[in-house]
Amino acid sequence: MSEQTVGFVGLGNMGAVLAANLVHAGHPLVSHDALGPARSPEGSVYVPSVAEVARRAEVVVLSLPDGTVSEKVARELLAADESRVRYVVDTSTVGVPAARSIADLLAEEGIGHVDAPVSGGVAGARARTLTVMYAGTDEACSRVEGVLAGLSDRRRRVGERPGMAQALKLANNFLAATALAATSEAVAFGLSVGLDMATMLDVLNGSSGRSAATDDKFPRHVLTGRYAAGFTNSLMAKDVRLYLDAIVDQGGPVSVGQVAAAVWEDFAAAEPGADFTRIFPFTAGS
Ligand code: NAD
Repeated sequence: MSEQTVGFVGLGNMGAVLAANLVHAGHPLVSHDALGPARSPEGSVYVPSVAEVARRAEVVVLSLPDGTVSEKVARELLAADESRVRYVVDTSTVGVPAARSIADLLAEEGIGHVDAPVSGGVAGARARTLTVMYAGTDEACSRVEGVLAGLSDRRRRVGERPGMAQALKLANNFLAATALAATSEAVAFGLSVGLDMATMLDVLNGSSGRSAATDDKFPRHVLTGRYAAGFTNSLMAKDVRLYLDAIVDQGGPVSVGQVAAAVWEDFAAAEPGADFTRIFPFTAGS
């Protein structure tokens, strides 16, 4: 059990579950979301502003939509009177340059930053199998270790500099996004020649076309018609765009990335905010 109060900002699909995990792990928690207390986990104290989080917590965890919002909240933490904040753990997917600039901004006031994006979905967060990949200085990483352990049982430090974990997260989401888009086209093709979706998935999962799309997203959300993975197409389009921007900055290969980014941007523009597994009906035209 920990006695030190942890702050949490951003109680959306992912943040609400991560915040609840911290409470269950024994961390006293103060939470805040721009939309109010509706998703504040039982056992936490909801506070009405980011400044109030800063006054009460030494370590603040963020789960926010993108780098612009993370930077805005970081500035609010910095501007708070009587702030106790020493470390910020950002679990949001913000991209490489944003992670670096937010870390620099916080460092000016002596606040440590741990770049800690997550992968494994809302279901994985609930099951504590979510991967928390993180990067930061030895000092910052060791000081927030207990908080990271509260978030999930699966954690891996991937580097010392903020942005390194973002790079790995973007590579992961590029692969996940591409596999889901490609599987949607492949399954639509199979259906068009009279194959059955369940049979296709069964065979693909014992064959070389297997991926998280075929063994998780399709069986759980497409085949069942649930379409409730808890991750929006807008966030996935953001991630693939951030990946592509980062690759362009690095001078790396972009051919598949450009196609994947265009597919996800088209889907997000056509059905903004839809669950990302709905890419199948979007692709199949059904
Ligand atoms: P979400 O849109 O459901 O939640 C974001 C929350 O942030 C909302 O509740 C919103 O009200 C709040 N917010 C926005 N601006 C704010 C502000 N200025 N101050 C306080 N609160 C503010 O998004 P999500 O699905 O929970 O994802 C959060 C982050 O985690 C994103 O960066 C996403 O890419 C990443 N992520 C999500 C998943 C997933 O499965 N949902 C998986 C991996 C990574």
